[in-house]
Amino acid sequence: MIKRAPHDVVVIGAGLAGLNAAYLLEAEGADVLVLEAQARVGGRIHSMRQLGRNAEAGGTYIGAGYTRIIETAERHGIKLIDVTPTLQFFREQDLVLGAEIIRQAEWPDHPANPFPARDKALMPWTYRRVLPMRENPLASPGEWLDPKHADLDISMRDWMRGLGLDDDAIEIGYSFNSTFGDDANDVSALLLLFRAAFSTAQRALAPKDTLGFTAENGVESIPAAMAQSLRRGVQFESPVTAIESRRDGAVVHCVDGSRIKARHVVCSAPFSVLRNIGIDPPLAGLQAEAVTRLRSQAVTQVYLRPKTPYWEHDGHAPSLFTDSLPGMLAAVRSGANPSTITHFAAWVTGHHAVEIDALSEADAGRLVIEAIAAIRPAARGQLEFIGLHSWGSDPYAAGAWAYFRPGEINRYARIMGKPHGRIHFCGEHLARSSRGMEAAMESGERAGGEVLTRL
Ligand SMILES: Cc1cc2nc3c(=O)[nH]c(=O)nc-3n(C[C@H](O)[C@H](O)[C@H](O)COP(=O)(O)OP(=O)(O)OC[C@H]3O[C@@H](n4cnc5c(N)ncnc54)[C@H](O)[C@@H]3O)c2cc1C
Repeated sequence: MIKRAPHDVVVIGAGLAGLNAAYLLEAEGADVLVLEAQARVGGRIHSMRQLGRNAEAGGTYIGAGYTRIIETAERHGIKLIDVTPTLQFFREQDLVLGAEIIRQAEWPDHPANPFPARDKALMPWTYRRVLPMRENPLASPGEWLDPKHADLDISMRDWMRGLGLDDDAIEIGYSFNSTFGDDANDVSALLLLFRAAFSTAQRALAPKDTLGFTAENGVESIPAAMAQSLRRGVQFESPVTAIESRRDGAVVHCVDGSRIKARHVVCSAPFSVLRNIGIDPPLAGLQAEAVTRLRSQAVTQVYLRPKTPYWEHDGHAPSLFTDSLPGMLAAVRSGANPSTITHFAAWVTGHHAVEIDALSEADAGRLVIEAIAAIRPAARGQLEFIGLHSWGSDPYAAGAWAYFRPGEINRYARIMGKPHGRIHFCGEHLARSSRGMEAAMESGERAGGEVLTRL
C-alpha cells in the first residue's frame, strides 16, 4: 500500500545523526517522518541503566568542545556531569603482556618495553594516542580530507616505521586492543591523525580541569528527548529494506511491506548496514564500492560483577590492558560515588570480538572470565557474568564505528557521502571535521542542510 500525502522528508534511523537532521528540517517547517528499525532511539548510544546510574554500552564521553551535543542537551534540560573525577581512575590500569602483569611503575625499565628512550614512560594505551598528537601535520581536524595530506593515507605500521619505530614498538604501541582495525596494518594513519587533531581541538576548548561530560541519567536521554520533541515523533520497529529515488519523489520500503512516499530521504544507516538495503537506481562507482567495503570495528563488551574486591589482595590495579582475549578490562564506576567500582566491562575488539561473537553469550562470558583468571589468579571464582553487548552482531549497527584501511581515505572519503538522486546520507562515518557523537550530529546537520536547499 502506498500512502498518499507524501512527507517532505523521511529520515531513516533515530540515532543522533538522523534525529539532528530531522530537528533541523522541522525547524525550517518541513514535514518529517523518522523511521527507526528498533524499539528504542539512540542507535549506538545505549544506556544500560540495569548496570548502574550512567552505565553505557555505546557513546559515553562528551568532549568539552562537542558544541552540538552540549547545546542539544541544554535545549532539552538534560543535565551533563563532569567525568573528570572518574577518568582519573580510568588511567589506573596495569598492562598484561602474555602471562605477566606489569605495573605502570615497572614499565619504564621493563625489558619488554620497546619504546625509544624518550617514550619509555608512556604506557601503550597512552602511546597510541600521544604519538599521532605529537607528530601531527594536520593543523585542524578538517584537514584530513585536504589532498595535501594524501600521502599519509598509508598503514599505521608504515607511518610508525617512518618515525623510526621497530616491529616490537609497533606491535605494543598499536597492534593489540586497537580502537581502529585489527592491527597497525589494517588502518590508515591519516584516520588516526584526524582523530588526534580532533582531540587536540577538543582539549583547547575544554574549560580548565575539565576533560568532558556525560549525561547524568544516561546518554540515551539525549536522543530520547530529541525524538520526543519531533512533531511526528519516531515510528519504531520499522526496518527499511529498500529506497527508491524517482524523478518526482522517493519511496521507502519497510520490512512489513509498507511503502512511504517522500520528496527526499535522509539515510543515517552505517554503511555496514546500508549495504543490505536495496537502492534503486543502484549506487555506482566508488560510492558503491565504499558502501560495500568500508569496515566497521568489531567491539563486544562483556559485563562482569566482582563478588569481592579481589584486586585489594594481589595489589594490582583493578583495570587491566591485556594483549589477549579479555582486551581492555575496565573497572566501571557508574554509581553516585566515583570511587566505587560497580562492575567491569571487558572491551573485546577485532578478531577476539569476532571469535566470541560466534559463541552463546554464556559461553563467551565463561571464556572471558577464564582468560582473566588465567592472567590473574586472585580473580578466580570472583567474577560473575552479568551481560554482553556485541556491536558487531547488532544487525542495525554491524560494528561500533567505521574505519578506513590504508588508501581508502583517498579513494572514498571525499565522495562517499554525496547525495544519490533524492537520497541524502549522514552518520558518524560521513563527518568532515568531528569524531564520535559530535560527528553524528555534524553529519546530520550537513544532510539536513542539503535537503533544505532542495525543498
Ligand atoms: C562502544 C561504543 C563506545 C563509544 N564511545 C563514544 C564516546 O565515548 N564518545 C563519543 O563521542 N562517541 C562514542 N561512540 C560513537 C558514537 O556513539 C557514535 O558515533 C554515534 O552514536 C553514531 O550515531 P549515528 O546516528 O551516526 O549512528 P547510529 O547511532 O548507529 O544510528 C543509526 C540508526 O539507524 C537505525 N537503523 C539502521 N538500519 C536501519 C534500517 N534498515 N531501517 C531503519 N532504521 C535503521 C539504527 O537502529 C540506529 O538507531 C561510541 C560508540 C560505541 C559503539
